[in-house]
Amino acid sequence: MAIERTLSIIKPDATRRNLTGRINAMLEEAGLRIVAQRRVRLTRAQAEGFYAVHKARPFFDSLCAFMTSGPVVVQVLEGDDAVAKNRKVMGATDSSKADAGTIRKTFAESIEANSAHGSDSAENAKGEIAYFFAGTDIVG
Ligand code: ADP
Ligand code: MG
Repeated sequence: MAIERTLSIIKPDATRRNLTGRINAMLEEAGLRIVAQRRVRLTRAQAEGFYAVHKARPFFDSLCAFMTSGPVVVQVLEGDDAVAKNRKVMGATDSSKADAGTIRKTFAESIEANSAHGSDSAENAKGEIAYFFAGTDIVG
């Protein structure tokens, strides 16, 4: 398995409930290393740009409002098979369908306020990481 990097976001529902440390512990326990991390309040334009692929979806406006409703923690995770590993630790988008012990099963409030984001492919991870981080921000 190749060492990969992926973008993770701890979403506003989780920062609001002070869950950053518990989520980071779940990521680290799964073998992912946090090699860059920043707490930020997204602007509407940043949220819309990040989720541009979902622009036509009915939940797009609500999703962008949610993602700007409070601080998020953007982070780069590194490890063997990091993209798939992070998706596994996060669990399914709809937490009612997520496996026990996953971040979303444990913490999500709804299908929208589902506590965490993770890139869905190595290619998308590259773009998503570059959206938030310069190469010099990432210390592996
Ligand atoms: P994932 O985050 O698991 O990759 P998607 O890329 O399909 O899921 O969707 C992006 C985000 O949009 C989800 O994490 C969730 O916050 C929100 N979302 C997805 N589907 C819905 C939905 N049916 N209703 C409301 N929000 C949704
Ligand atoms: Mg997605």
